Amino acid sequence: ALTAGIVGLPNVGKSTLFNAITKAGVEAANYPFATIDPNVGVVEVPDKRLKDITEIIEPKKEVPTTFEFTDIAGIVKGASKGEGLGNKFLANIRQVDAICHVVRCFEDGNITHVDGRVDPIADIETINLELIFADLETIDKRLAKTEKIARSTKDSEAVAEVAVLHKLKEHLEAGKLANSLEFTKEEEAIVRSLFLLTRKDMLYVANIGEDEISHPESNKFYQDVKALAEEQGAEVVPVCASLEEEIALLDDEEKREFLEGFGMEESGLDQLIQKAYTLLGLGTYFTAGEQEVRAWTFTKGMKAPEAAGVIHSDFERGFIRAETVSYEHLMEYGSMAAAKEAGHYRSEGKDYVVQDGDIMLFRFNV
Ligand code: GDP
Repeated sequence: ALTAGIVGLPNVGKSTLFNAITKAGVEAANYPFATIDPNVGVVEVPDKRLKDITEIIEPKKEVPTTFEFTDIAGIVKGASKGEGLGNKFLANIRQVDAICHVVRCFEDGNITHVDGRVDPIADIETINLELIFADLETIDKRLAKTEKIARSTKDSEAVAEVAVLHKLKEHLEAGKLANSLEFTKEEEAIVRSLFLLTRKDMLYVANIGEDEISHPESNKFYQDVKALAEEQGAEVVPVCASLEEEIALLDDEEKREFLEGFGMEESGLDQLIQKAYTLLGLGTYFTAGEQEVRAWTFTKGMKAPEAAGVIHSDFERGFIRAETVSYEHLMEYGSMAAAKEAGHYRSEGKDYVVQDGDIMLFRFNV
C-alpha cells in the first residue's frame, strides 16, 4: 500500500497528530492484515459515497477503505550531516510515497520552539534543506561513477545520465526541490532510479491553535505557508493537532457535535487523509453485495484486471470481465435494477480504465 510519511521539527505537534491518527485508527476486525508496525497508523478514508450506497443496497456490513501514515522521527537541523538520529531518518523517508510536513503555526508561550520563535517558513526551509543535502549526496555519488564511464566508453546512456544528474544538481544547489523539475520520459527513468527525497509529493500540515482553527485564514503563519505551498505546487491542510487527538476518540455523532462547537465542518485529519490520497493519485471503487458494501483503493489509470487484483490476485489472474455502474447513476436511479433498466449497467473488458466512484462486480475464473 502507498503511505505518506509524517515529518516535522521537534515541538511542532507531530507526535500529537500521529497519536490522533493511531487513536482514530481502523477497527482491527475489518482489516485482519492491517500493519501492526508501531510507526504506522492505518486510518479509514472518509467517503460520503459509501454511506449513500449502503442506504440503497442495505448490506449487513459497510467497510471503508484505508490509508497508511508513517511516523518519521528525528529530523533536526544538521540531520543529513549526522546530527540527532542522523541519517536513519533518510532511509525511512525514502520508503514513503509522499511527505506530510507538519509545521507549527500556533503560538503558545509554554511550549518552546527549537529556534526560539514560531516561523513555519524557516522550519520548512530547514527540513527541505536537509532533504536537498541528502539528494545532493546521492547525485554526487552517482555522478562520480557515471562520469567515469561516460568519459572512458562514450556510452550514450551514460552520457545522457550525466546530463540529467547535472541538471538536478544545479537545481538542488539553487535550493529548489527536485519535484519542481520537468523531465522527458527517458530522463524520468533515470531520475526515478535515484530515489530522491525531494522528488516526492509534498503536503504541508499547518498546526493551528484551537482558537483559530475555525478561521485559519486569519492566522498569518498559515497564510505564509499557503503562499509558499502555492509557489511550490504543494498542498497545505490546516489542522489543530491537539483537537484532533480529542476528536479521534469520539463516535460519529459526538464528532459532528464537537466539530460544530468549534465552527468546523470537517475534521482536519479527515481533510489530511483526503488530500494525501488525492496527492498520490489514488481513487476509490466500490463493491456492493448483500453481505457487505466496501470501498477499495486503486491507483487512477488502472485497468479493470489490475484494479480487481487489489481485492485478490486470483481476481486479476482469472479476470473475465467486469460489470459496472457509476456512483452517480446509482444515485440518479435509486436502485441497481433501475440503473440497469436505463442502460447504465455496463459490461466491460480487460481494457476498461476504472473510474473513481465505479461500483464493480468482477467475473473471473478460478
Ligand atoms: P513534536 O515534538 O513535533 O512531536 O511535538 P508534540 O506533538 O510533542 O507537541 C509539542 C507540544 O505542543 C506538546 O506539549 C503539545 O501538547 C503541544 N501542541 C501540539 N499541538 C498543539 C496545538 O494545536 N495547540 C497547542 N496549544 N499546543 C499544541
